[in-house]
Amino acid sequence: MGFEMTDVIISGSFYREGKFEELSVAVEDGIIRKIGKDVHGAKNIRISGGIFPGATDIHVHFRDPGETHKEDFASGSLSAIYGGTTTVFDMPNNVIPVTDYDVFENKLSIVSGRSFCDFGLYSMYTGSNSSLISSKSSGIKSYLGESTNATAVGGEMKGFDEIEKLPVPKVFHAESFRCLKNHHTEGVKNLREHNLSRPLECEIDSLKDVKGFPLTRKIAAHITSEDSARTLGDSALKEVTPHHLLLNDMDQHGSWARVNPPLREREVQEKLLAAYLSGSMDIVSSDHAPHTEEDKEDFEFSKSGLIGVETRIPLMLALVKKGILSMERFYSTCIRNPAAAFGLRKGELKEGYYADFFAANLSDMSGVKERNLHSKTPFTPFNGFQSVFPNTVILRGEVVIENREAILEPMGRHVMDLRRVE
Ligand SMILES: [Zn+2]
Repeated sequence: MGFEMTDVIISGSFYREGKFEELSVAVEDGIIRKIGKDVHGAKNIRISGGIFPGATDIHVHFRDPGETHKEDFASGSLSAIYGGTTTVFDMPNNVIPVTDYDVFENKLSIVSGRSFCDFGLYSMYTGSNSSLISSKSSGIKSYLGESTNATAVGGEMKGFDEIEKLPVPKVFHAESFRCLKNHHTEGVKNLREHNLSRPLECEIDSLKDVKGFPLTRKIAAHITSEDSARTLGDSALKEVTPHHLLLNDMDQHGSWARVNPPLREREVQEKLLAAYLSGSMDIVSSDHAPHTEEDKEDFEFSKSGLIGVETRIPLMLALVKKGILSMERFYSTCIRNPAAAFGLRKGELKEGYYADFFAANLSDMSGVKERNLHSKTPFTPFNGFQSVFPNTVILRGEVVIENREAILEPMGRHVMDLRRVE
């Protein structure tokens, strides 16, 4: 009894409430309708490996439109699904920054129909454009110091009432404008000098401002130290990246690891990792920011940013396999919390949520190989790092990666067209 026909039944070992359980999941119109041991349907898919809800990366720069020789929405989103990420949120610092309704609509029309994963788009808040921001924005990004294609707000944040009205997360790139100016150094030659030219104190200064902003749903992007987390307290969600967790300014990766905020000293990095492992951070994002070989040729003039949307989940899963990171911490920071922060019906195995999944075998650990990555500029300081890539990825009930190969055309949708958590 209880026999129900549905579009598809996915069976296997699902991660739920802290452990793996042998379950069947009935999917209809891309949504989980029923979860149990005794669920039947027209089409059955059996997945091997541990099955997690699809991951969400709330911080990517797919460079589309404007710099599609570095990346575009197709290559960036393809990289995402190969790495188990079924939803991304793309940052607004395109060559023409997304600061008003028209630019937003133009970007949305350009990227629609070309994404392999579901996506949301940010708008940039410059300090004076609150009335121009598209209501379709999934999030509001503000740069408190200068960065690539970004207008710095400086310490002069105002118009809080207007942006607070937008019911979306407010994400801050926190490096103090004034402090960066004071430490500005011409001709930095290596990662240590880059770090000293944008020191941790500039980040902490800026995070003090973020803490004071009278806004709800704040997210502090890519914080790089335990002190940063302590400065924020519970005033904002704390985002960290795999590169700040795993690399430091003495590593010999040259300009490929030049990034803002910079990689810190080893001691700072190790404390950040320890704080993350013990539960002080909320979200792990890639801050995927591709540049060409030419952009990275000479350290002194090199652009800042590195790729990571495809390696985020595999690198963190390798930490789980090695016994460094707990499975539950991995799940909450890479999968559940990022989806929940944006009100997605994703990131949990729950009826009424979207049937996004990835499956991986922890025994499949191997070195990252740049040549196997799908970014247009697949160069990464993580080349050779241990990783566990997913075998299977499912987006709203459709298998999009099978045996580690993409098998479908782009079917990613704008998250604003999906059902949300009320
Ligand atoms: Zn970024």
